[in-house]
Amino acid sequence: MNSLKDLIRTIPDYPKRGIMFRDVTTLLGDAQGFKAAIAQMAEPYRTQPIDAVAGIEARGFILGGAIADRLGCGFIPIRKKGKLPWKTIGQEYSLEYGVDVIEIHEDALAPGQRILIVDDLIATGGTAEAAAKLIRRSGGTIVGATFIIDLPDLGGSKLLKSHDIACHSLVAFEGH
Ligand code: AMP
Repeated sequence: MNSLKDLIRTIPDYPKRGIMFRDVTTLLGDAQGFKAAIAQMAEPYRTQPIDAVAGIEARGFILGGAIADRLGCGFIPIRKKGKLPWKTIGQEYSLEYGVDVIEIHEDALAPGQRILIVDDLIATGGTAEAAAKLIRRSGGTIVGATFIIDLPDLGGSKLLKSHDIACHSLVAFEGH
């Protein structure tokens, strides 16, 4: 079997010049690779009580659904502004230019529930930090955050650590 790193396609200059886009569709399309990624992302949490996985749109949904099934817990979607049908709470976060907003249903979790954050990749950590704020504002406790890819030079895992959130990732790429 190819290593998980070998199954990730790198696309230079996408979506704009200077970005090395780490494309996980090639990993997701490989049956053994997908299965191994889900197993490894879930592994540190198998023996911990977890009420729900919170997956970040959109690749966090694919991974988060499978991880929730494996851990035997629920799934909570965290979506871009305007996509969720019920009442929401929103959280702004910074992009390279300007700001964006992600949202969660206001009744998605009950106070005290233990939540695992899932996405495909952590770069600056701005998206995961906003997700963490939504979960904490909803009264949830964050058990950790799990990713396929960390870009350590962009500081996202350190940022989460400064909020007392431990990151778990399977593969790191130096640079950005
Ligand atoms: P950040 O908020 O900077 O940690 O960015 C994380 C989000 O942006 C994740 O949802 C990723 O899917 C996406 N992302 C950021 N940088 C990249 C990259 N180099 N390749 C692929 N996806 C990326």
